[in-house]
Amino acid sequence: MSTIPQTAQAGVQPAYLGLFESGELRHRVEEAVVSLETCRVCPRDCGVDRLADKFAVCKTGRYAIVSSYFAHFGEEDCLRGWNGSGTIFFSGCNLRCVFCQNYDISWEVQGLAVPPEKLAKMMLDLQRRGCHNINFVTPEHVVPQILEALPIAIQGGLRLPLVYNTSAYDSMESLRLLDGVVDIYMPDFKWWDREMARMYSKAPDYPEVARRTIKEMNRQVGTLILDENGLARRGLLIRHLVMPGGIASTKAICEWIARELGPDTYVDLMPQYYPAGKVSATQYSEINRRIFPQEYHEALDFAYVAGLRRLDPREVARGKRLV
Ligand code: SF4
Repeated sequence: MSTIPQTAQAGVQPAYLGLFESGELRHRVEEAVVSLETCRVCPRDCGVDRLADKFAVCKTGRYAIVSSYFAHFGEEDCLRGWNGSGTIFFSGCNLRCVFCQNYDISWEVQGLAVPPEKLAKMMLDLQRRGCHNINFVTPEHVVPQILEALPIAIQGGLRLPLVYNTSAYDSMESLRLLDGVVDIYMPDFKWWDREMARMYSKAPDYPEVARRTIKEMNRQVGTLILDENGLARRGLLIRHLVMPGGIASTKAICEWIARELGPDTYVDLMPQYYPAGKVSATQYSEINRRIFPQEYHEALDFAYVAGLRRLDPREVARGKRLV
């Protein structure tokens, strides 16, 4: 199999090239970097001076911190293809999910601070390895740093589509800066209920924020489009992790997606929750278990009844094998 990026093979241009050529990307970078001085990059609105390397909830100062970057074969088939999704895992996070499966990365912020040149080099390295896209994982707090690295990567030859792999706890200002830059938005719609969002992610406003940001993502890129090889080219892919005892949220989220975004919205209903992070037999014990098979089957029923007709098939098959 060829290692030339599919985008180049197919002659399809990623969204950001037009903005780069018009000079608009340069303006966005300047705006984004200045915004770090009184940081309101995400809905936490901390107001700290990250240009002076101060930090707050996300524990990230002037430069993005990267824990690892690699060709990821665990993502959805339309992202991993046959050469993998070019994943860059950012450390730190603006949410505080007590069950986080990457606790050492998001809470303890393990990784290396990378200036823009280095971040650009990572993107180009992933492209050289034949990855089908650049997949920014947990990017909500480092949007300015991603934008700052992008022109350097483009000048170095970057042509892969960008995947914004987010919790959906984003600011509208960040999404404005990303409009025309991101090809594929992949928000994880976690909570419908304010109390669960408060208890398990320490962000009671999460449901309102996620509804607003996901609508905006959909406005920008629309329904997910796959190419002739089944690879995602552009559009919205929503993930939702089915939680133990959280089936009412799942139902409300499926209904909202079908009603507000349309039944052709691509949805990955994920069955793989397992207890991690701060969850134990003594803390958050009600979620100290995997989901029951019956819970996944109910989630699927809710999705179908809501009218959703593009559920990620690999995940559905996995969910049906739960015992
Ligand atoms: S990006 Fe970090 S410092 Fe800025 S508002 Fe969000 S949590 Fe606070």
